[in-house]
Amino acid sequence: MIPQPPAIRRHTTMTTLSRKLDDFRWEDVPLLAYKQEGNTFRDITRQTLFDGEPTLPCQWRYFEISPDGHSSLERHEHLHVVMIIRGRGQAFVANRILDLNTFDIVRIGPLTWHQFRANLGQPLGFLCLVNIQRDRPQLPDATTLAQLRAIPLVADFIRV
Ligand code: MN
Repeated sequence: MIPQPPAIRRHTTMTTLSRKLDDFRWEDVPLLAYKQEGNTFRDITRQTLFDGEPTLPCQWRYFEISPDGHSSLERHEHLHVVMIIRGRGQAFVANRILDLNTFDIVRIGPLTWHQFRANLGQPLGFLCLVNIQRDRPQLPDATTLAQLRAIPLVADFIRV
């Protein structure tokens, strides 16, 4: 049997210092699309600030939603820990609509429906910590959407 490599998709050694540039960009960090595919999100970018190493197998990303944009409404087994570092907005997490201000911290637990929106006239930029090994996000099916929309506040908030 050939030993399998560690189940870490990739790892890079980040530079000791990556200075913040103007407008929430960082040195040597490319500005990427939020996701490779799909149309369940709007006006959102991704930068991977730390891409995991064997002794720290997590990814640290910065997402930024432009005014009126939103992330996907999704859930997954893996956790997120989010810190808002730019602007304001709101998020749907579980059964609540949260008002988010700069430096607020949001923990999103396993299989918890969530969506971030920059719906307060400002960008919403946040750091998001995830495990390198993680399941793919699930999108709501028609039954789930109907259940979520049974709550009027949630029906008004979510974008799919
Ligand atoms: Mn998520």
